[in-house]
Amino acid sequence: MVLSTLPFFSPALPLGQDAGPINQISKALARAAGQGGADPYTQLMVHFSYILAVALFVLSLKWLSSPASARRGVLAGEIGMLAAIIGTLLAHQIVNWEWIIVALVLGSAIGVPLAVFMPMTAVPQRTALSHAFGALAAALVGTAHYYLEMDPALKMGHAGNIPPVEMGILCLEVLLGSLTVTGSTIAFGKLQELLPGRPITYRFQNVINFTILGTALVLGVLLTIKPQWTFLFPVFIGLGLLFGFLLVLPIGGADMPTVIALLNSYAGLSASLMGFVLDNQMLIVAGALDGASGLFLSIIMCKAMNRSFANVLFGAFGKVQVSAAAIEQRTVRSTTAEEAAEILADANLVIVAPGYGMAVAQAQHKVRELYDLLIKRGVSVKFAIHPVAGRMPGHMNVLLAEADIPYTDLVEMDSINGDFPGADVALVIGANDVTNPAARHDKASPIYGMPILDVDKARTVMVIKRSMNPGFAGVENELYYLDRTLMLFGDAKAVVSNLVKELAESAKR
Ligand code: NAP
Repeated sequence: MVLSTLPFFSPALPLGQDAGPINQISKALARAAGQGGADPYTQLMVHFSYILAVALFVLSLKWLSSPASARRGVLAGEIGMLAAIIGTLLAHQIVNWEWIIVALVLGSAIGVPLAVFMPMTAVPQRTALSHAFGALAAALVGTAHYYLEMDPALKMGHAGNIPPVEMGILCLEVLLGSLTVTGSTIAFGKLQELLPGRPITYRFQNVINFTILGTALVLGVLLTIKPQWTFLFPVFIGLGLLFGFLLVLPIGGADMPTVIALLNSYAGLSASLMGFVLDNQMLIVAGALDGASGLFLSIIMCKAMNRSFANVLFGAFGKVQVSAAAIEQRTVRSTTAEEAAEILADANLVIVAPGYGMAVAQAQHKVRELYDLLIKRGVSVKFAIHPVAGRMPGHMNVLLAEADIPYTDLVEMDSINGDFPGADVALVIGANDVTNPAARHDKASPIYGMPILDVDKARTVMVIKRSMNPGFAGVENELYYLDRTLMLFGDAKAVVSNLVKELAESAKR
């Protein structure tokens, strides 16, 4: 009853008849959904699948925010996308089936190997590539729409025209799409180490970048006023592509995941604007959700690193720093798996701080064995999760969930930091930057102000890593030189295996 009064649910009224305001709204919505010629039942199906898709996308985002419901979130997103595709096909917004099949085969030929063969540690660059493709689609659709509208052959000899609001939106869509294509491709190149990961800087870099962006915006305004100046359009796209390239080139590899989240947001916004241009509500909503979630994610990541957007985008963070402390000769203490296993076995509370090294070594399953052995001995074990440990948000949650470590033992940084002073051992596995105490007090350090895991407050700190090399930020870690710190040098998987072996043997004795 209530639903039937809503424009979405008024298909019983024939669209051809002018039967009052509801039908007029319905007609407007039908035009907006692009299915003016479809029968009322098809329209109902289209609206139903779009509403279902939007609801599933919203639920997906909600469920993805917790490790316990993340799998359900992925499934909801997939079903939502299927519903959106079915709705769009039903709405007859298709060129022909042959093209749909070609696109499906081409997309699967690229997407399936990406999903199957790229390892977990390469997820950030895989995400960058996905955004590049999404943004390419948005930019190409906008470009095709422009040329179709402006083609005199299709307008029976009349010069085409696009209303200013639509043209303004189209320009914004193409600009965001094209800068995201090149920006994401450079981000992929840096993370895949095809390009140098360090920031590439040059004089007047920001001035040059803003001049290019400003020129592109001026051309966008000119095109909005005079869409028939078609000669400007390729220059406009070229400037967008160039700006994306130059924007990401100076940004260091350490900031790339944040930049990728931001580019995700641009690609989503571009898709949303494409929805306005194509009169497709589904695209408007899905693009807006994508754009907003990308923006939120980058804000969360910036906060976790205590950095501003401006600093990430224009700060050229990640040039290798040599601190005064690094020059001093200091000693580190290393230990053996046997001694470390004894200390662990005698502990009441062990807090594990995992990081990127655990992901590289794929040590999570061995960590699970260590966890089981310690629990069996009556030791309490907790995992301290730093929001930017690893190379993507939630990286540690995903790995530890893969090894079936109970979610209840994964504790976020803010909640676990108070427990470190009471912990007998802080076991750092392949984490570096997120444990560096310099972030708390060394104002000269590039990571100053970044919230860290307070592992240095535990009675004993054990650090598993292969060498004294710095982490992603290129900063030396003073944690390794503390009196209470013991280094266990080696690959994380091998070292944790040795710890497991020693603990298992000592349990037999
Ligand atoms: P990290 O600072 O990059 O340190 C990782 C450590 O793992 C390295 O010092 C490395 O030392 C060690 N390692 C590498 N391979 C190993 C192996 N096979 N076995 C044992 N150890 C190994 O990592 P993190 O502490 O996790 O910090 C993450 C960094 O990424 C932060 O700077 C953060 O700001 C940045 N970041 C993360 C995100 C995100 O979303 N997660 C986003 C933006 C930026 P050795 O070479 O000596 O072994």
